[in-house]
Amino acid sequence: MKNHHRLLLSLLLGACAGLALHQFGENDLLQQFNRYAIEPVGQLFLRLIFMIVTPMVVSGLMLGVFQLSSHHGLAQVAKRTLFFTVLASSASVVIGVGLVNFFQPGRGMDIPQLHGDITGVRNIQQNAEQAKPMVEALLEIIPKNPFDVAGKALEGGMLPLMFFSLVFGAALALTSAGKPSRWVEVLEETYAACMLIVDTVMKFAPLAVFALVFQSTFKFGYQILLSLGFYLLVVVFGLLLQQGVVYTLMLRLFGNLRPLAFFKQCREVYLYAFATASSNATLPRSLELAEQRLKLAPEISRFVLTIGSTANQNGTALFEGVTVLFLAQVYGVDLSLSQQIQVVLMAILAGIGTAGVPGGSLPLIMILTQQIGIPAEGMGLILGVDRFLDMCRTTLNVSGDLVIAALVDRQTRDEKNSTQ
Ligand code: ASP
Repeated sequence: MKNHHRLLLSLLLGACAGLALHQFGENDLLQQFNRYAIEPVGQLFLRLIFMIVTPMVVSGLMLGVFQLSSHHGLAQVAKRTLFFTVLASSASVVIGVGLVNFFQPGRGMDIPQLHGDITGVRNIQQNAEQAKPMVEALLEIIPKNPFDVAGKALEGGMLPLMFFSLVFGAALALTSAGKPSRWVEVLEETYAACMLIVDTVMKFAPLAVFALVFQSTFKFGYQILLSLGFYLLVVVFGLLLQQGVVYTLMLRLFGNLRPLAFFKQCREVYLYAFATASSNATLPRSLELAEQRLKLAPEISRFVLTIGSTANQNGTALFEGVTVLFLAQVYGVDLSLSQQIQVVLMAILAGIGTAGVPGGSLPLIMILTQQIGIPAEGMGLILGVDRFLDMCRTTLNVSGDLVIAALVDRQTRDEKNSTQ
């Protein structure tokens, strides 16, 4: 059986088993079984992957930038990455905001009972309250102490850590005048060792995928999906439009690539993203796919995918736009055009600042909702369905990164060929 078939099977089995047992969710024995047998399996897998994400991001990004700087290609690659990122993020938010205004999923909706997750709302609120003003947040992309941010990479320190790695990689190219130095050898070996660990951990991915999906469906069942069905459909429809229309057009127009064949090659990575709901946890897999199956230039894929896993989150940007406007409709908060534009811009920026971990975007949604006067409890409404939506938007986030990496690679190759 092929790997992606095995993963798909685990995913379906996990979902069916979780849904079937949800109705007996109060049963003590089942709860213990979920808590002590199923949850640890999923967590073990995620922790092992998260364990290598930080060394992998640092070594991968430094190597990518070192190689690009050595061949004087860095500026061009960075410019292209930025262009495609802005294009894809803007398209996703415009789709989301357009759909939510057209379908109005929150109008006239009775405010449903909160799902008792008030502690969840408070935690997110506390995180949101710690948010810094824009200027300060921008300044903090430059870390005072790279070791400090490396320690907090998965709790908001990823962007500063990437900044340090970019600068260091470029400096390394200058000091070694482009020739491989001992430092570069160390980085290469670190990166290869990380890949080896990922390969080993991935051997038990099917089991972990079963556990992760079971855990969510067992906890929430499907009723909750029905109660917010219209909102859910709007988000999922928007994500599908971004994948099926925007990415398809981008691949065709800017890369002359065959979209369906491309998506087919990426399907295994989509499944990982869906099951883990984390761009960062999927990064090692995307890097492997880009180098081994898509045959992208390693320096380009390392640069684009590593940065993209945190800074290019189209699914998250779309979800944020839809959710904020949906909550405004539910609570009858009328937004002027300029407030809607503010939501669009903030959603695009939030897609850049969101940590690539499960639920990473929730504090940012809290900030957005507070700014336009939606009660904090509104978050309680969507928390119950968030895991499912997180799985869907993370898949799009990762897909967007792969599309951009492929386009930057193609254009860079074409340019090289035409100058030769
Ligand atoms: N889970 C998402 C990711 O890792 C972030 C989010 O939207 O919460 O890409």
